[in-house]
Amino acid sequence: MSRYDSRSSDPSSYRDRRSDTGFGGSSGYGSSVRSSSSKSEHNSAEPPRKLDLDGLTPFEKNFFVESSSVAAMSQREVEEYRQQREITVEGRDVPKPVKSFRDMGFPDYVMQEITKAGFVEPTAIQSQGWPMALKGRDLIGIAETGSGKTLAYLLPAIVHVNAQPFLAPGDGPIVLVLAPTRELAVQIQQEATKFGASSRIKSTCIYGGVPKGPQVRDLQKGVEIVIATPGRLIDMLESHNTNLRRVTYLVLDEADRMLDMGFEPQIRKIVSQIRPDRQTLYWSATWPKEVEQLARQFLYNPYKVIIGSQDLKANHAIRQHVDIVSESQKYNKLVKLLEDIMDGSRILIFMDTKKGCDQITRQLRMDGWPALSIHGDKSQAERDWVLSEFKAGKSPIMTATDVAARGLAFLCLIGWLPHISQPVQ
Ligand code: AMP
Repeated sequence: MSRYDSRSSDPSSYRDRRSDTGFGGSSGYGSSVRSSSSKSEHNSAEPPRKLDLDGLTPFEKNFFVESSSVAAMSQREVEEYRQQREITVEGRDVPKPVKSFRDMGFPDYVMQEITKAGFVEPTAIQSQGWPMALKGRDLIGIAETGSGKTLAYLLPAIVHVNAQPFLAPGDGPIVLVLAPTRELAVQIQQEATKFGASSRIKSTCIYGGVPKGPQVRDLQKGVEIVIATPGRLIDMLESHNTNLRRVTYLVLDEADRMLDMGFEPQIRKIVSQIRPDRQTLYWSATWPKEVEQLARQFLYNPYKVIIGSQDLKANHAIRQHVDIVSESQKYNKLVKLLEDIMDGSRILIFMDTKKGCDQITRQLRMDGWPALSIHGDKSQAERDWVLSEFKAGKSPIMTATDVAARGLAFLCLIGWLPHISQPVQ
């Protein structure tokens, strides 16, 4: 039997441990900003600091077992493989990448879902990120949206949850994923539901703009994985609808985006309530100074894995055409573009401002184009309606601000939306 299976194989053996998970106290851990040092925590020349774990019950986070075929790879083969898949790594004792799902030795309940999804091989980020994450160490992942990064952190999360004591009444989640937008949070939860189903792991999504009731009920029933946007999660914490005392696996997804959106104070507040020896996985598409600074404070002796170039933002699978036009030419250019590409498929137009979004949509509609808009000033009900009209092809043109961009761009990558237009500023 795989060592991952302990939780599901003999639940009773966890009953005693459940009662003394020991994360007592009600107010959390004070600051879990792990160091105020200005030196890099992921500089491999620097020894890791000692964390203050007084009163905290140890938990299992290292599930890594190297398969014999991975162990047999020479250093040269490893380097060639990384080069071929554009993988760059940093950190101490970096594990070798895995070339196949079989090498990962995931438990059966995870393998079943991978087979069902029809995946052939791990993506680059998975091949290097999985062994790193399963070692229980902190991880910085720089990878594009569409690279398979969600499963790069979710499958190890599922293994992690299955090895922890069951939730007791009043316990909060074991895995917390912070995401910048509701759209991204929902997509993450869809993957969590799909891949967590066979081991009966429950997850919920906590985001603003919708009634709290159903979210509160989910939290109170007990869920192992919570995927949340920062503002609504703080709301839930302050109203004591959940707590973070059981969180041992923390993911910050699209950290660059969260900082762009001004979530840094909320992120700090949330992270300060999580035990300092948690495993933290920090994901970003880009690596600007502010993102690096936050990583230094939240992460402990991390690995870093970069797929492609560090400043890569766009997915290479998408061909991009850039037209530079003057303000006065923009609308005519857009209409010309629509006339050329409008063939019944869906077209997404990103804009800089909500006002611009509304104005262009109005103008397009007046000119007979089936357009609707989606942005942060619209109510959640309207956003849902617009998205469903667009999805059903009833309104094949949708204009959006970039707040919605990442979540929507994801839909293009999975082939759900065939076209992305150029931004109209
Ligand atoms: P993400 O980068 O996490 O947004 O993933 C983009 C899409 O790739 C999602 O639809 C995933 O289900 C899919 N995906 C994840 N891993 C693999 C894989 N190993 N092979 C094929 N598709 C995958």
